[in-house]
Order: sequence, then C-alpha cells, then structure tokens
Amino acid sequence: MSSGGCPFAGVGISLFAALAGLGTILMNTKRFMRQPLEVRLPAGVDRDEEGKLWFREISEFWKGQCFSIRIEKIVYSGKSQLQEILIFDSEKYGRVLVLDGAIQVTTLDEVAYQEVMAHTPMHLINNGECKRALVIGGGDGGVLRELAKYPEIQEIYICEIDGDVIELSKKYLSTTSIGYSDPRVKVFVEDGFKFLQSMINEGILFDVVVSDLSDPIGPAESIFNGEFLELLAKVVEPKNGVAALQGECYWLHSHLIRQLVDKSKSLFKNVSYATIAIPTYPCGQIGCLVMSSNPVTVPRRNGGVNPGDLRYYSRELHSAQFVLPKLVEKFVYGD
Ligand code: SAM
Repeated sequence: MSSGGCPFAGVGISLFAALAGLGTILMNTKRFMRQPLEVRLPAGVDRDEEGKLWFREISEFWKGQCFSIRIEKIVYSGKSQLQEILIFDSEKYGRVLVLDGAIQVTTLDEVAYQEVMAHTPMHLINNGECKRALVIGGGDGGVLRELAKYPEIQEIYICEIDGDVIELSKKYLSTTSIGYSDPRVKVFVEDGFKFLQSMINEGILFDVVVSDLSDPIGPAESIFNGEFLELLAKVVEPKNGVAALQGECYWLHSHLIRQLVDKSKSLFKNVSYATIAIPTYPCGQIGCLVMSSNPVTVPRRNGGVNPGDLRYYSRELHSAQFVLPKLVEKFVYGD
C-alpha cells in the first residue's frame, strides 16, 4: 500500500474510480440518447467528417475510380426482386436514381442522354413516317417523354424488366416519368430479350427501337450481347427503321464498344457511335450506337417536333456527335 499508511485509502481510490466510471457511462448514455439512432445507410452511401452524406458510385464496371455526389436527403432506399434501388436529392444534380450502385438518371443532366437516344433515331425517319416505336429498358420514362413529342407516332411500346423502377419513377421522378401519362404508351414488364422474341413471333415491326438498358452487369448482363442485336435487327422495320442502343463509355469500355460495333455492322448497313457529354455517367461520357439501312450521320427529318421543345439535341448536333476523337475513331472502327 503506498497511500500514507491509511488502511481505507485503497478503498477510497477504487470507489472514486468506480463513481467516475459510472459518471462517464451516464454521460455517454445521455449523449447517445440525444442523437437519433443512425439507420443502416444504403450501399454506396457514407458520411464525411462533417456528418454530411455522400453517394459514391463504386462498381466493378469502372474499377479504380468513383464519382461522388453529396446527398441532401434520401428519398427512397429498397430492393426490388432484381436490384437495389436508391433515390435521393442531391446538392448539385437534383433528384438522382441509382440502380445496383450505378447512377441512371439525375434530373439536372438526364436531358442530354434522353434527347440523343430518342431524337437521333427519330431524325433519321422522314417526317410523318414513324408509326410505332419501342423502348427496351428505360424504366425511368425519360425516352418515352421524348418520343411522345412526335404526334405522328401511333403506338409507343416500352418493355422494362423491373416494375418497381417504373412505379418508383412515377412516384419520385415526375419530370422524367411524365411520358407514361401519354395514352399511346403500352407498358410491358418483362425481359427485353424475351419480349423481342415474342414481337418477332407475332410479326410486329418498329420504325424506331431505343435500347435504353443499364450496364451489362445485373439484369442487363444477359441481354447486352450479339444475340440481342440479332433480335433487334429483326424487329426494326427493314427499309427505313432505326435502332439506337446505349453504347457505354469510350474511355472505359472500348473493347465492348468495338464488339457491339462489329456485330451490328454484320446486321445493319450503317452503324455509327454518337457521343454524349453528360457529367453524371462515368468519365462524363456515354455513347449511343445508331443502326439503320440508311445513312445515320445526317438527319433526314425536317419537322414533326418543335425545336423549342428540345434542350440538348439539334439538327446541327446530330452530325457533330458522330465526330469522334482520333484515338476513339481508331479503336471503334479501325482495323
Ligand atoms: N442509360 C441509363 C444508364 O446507363 O444508366 C439507363 C437508364 S434505364 C433506368 C435502364 C433500365 O434498364 C433499368 O430500369 C433496368 O431495370 C432496365 N433493364 C435492365 N435489364 C433489362 C432487361 N433485360 N430487359 C428490360 N429492361 C432491362
């Protein structure tokens, strides 16, 4: 014993230590109770040192890099039968839809993608001649919204594999999903590959087909391939029809783009890759592969849509978007 020979000194110190410990526990409990319990954060979401929420787009499909967006509020987080679905409000990009960790739509920049995917093929059809169009994927409804701007189209089919994406987009992404309210729209919830097979069996052809699929991991994995392109070629009206396919990023997926281009060249007389500038897709770039028996780089249409209704696409942009940087040109089309 070292405390001045007092027999109770050790007991005193132990009691003091015990009381101090109890005090710390009570203080921590009080602090803990004051804070709301942190609900488990959705995949890809974390907090920075200031406690602010961030979404980080981490994927095997773009290994070693990730785009991050600061979240203002999580609007929805859940899992459908096929994929994880996250919808949040961001500081910079408006409302954001994420499927299986990959950004699909932000209300700030979606216009770039949706307009190119819809108006590029539509401008390769003469005014008044597009009677039936099909969207494969595209559950957010943005491509539908753009196609619905053409009064000449009598029927707009959409085949989206995930009914939850459709319903949640209708509920939380009203400016994008507005196309669903058009009476010409016919919705099919099934796999796009099987749907194309059934259209071929029924002998139904389309003047314009837009394949607005997510990346080839998850539900689109089995569809992003040569067999799908073969089916696509069979449902496109052979004389003047046009297909447009989500064509991935040339900085990241040159190999895949080359495969898609080579395969589609064996099926369509004219195939070209249009580039789209869009900040929230990986590397700020995505492509649209356009295929037809007619040339695709110069618009044929004059009229049929009010240019005032368009914010990104124009007739001038139509041709410009097929002009690729030299190194890209080489690996997309070169020997
Ligand atoms: N361009 C966007 C992108 O790359 O981020 C795609 C947006 S859109 C929301 C993609 C849609 O394709 C998703 O809603 C997804 O459910 C749907 N999809 C994926 N695989 C599909 C398939 N096999 N058949 C039909 N739709 C499919």
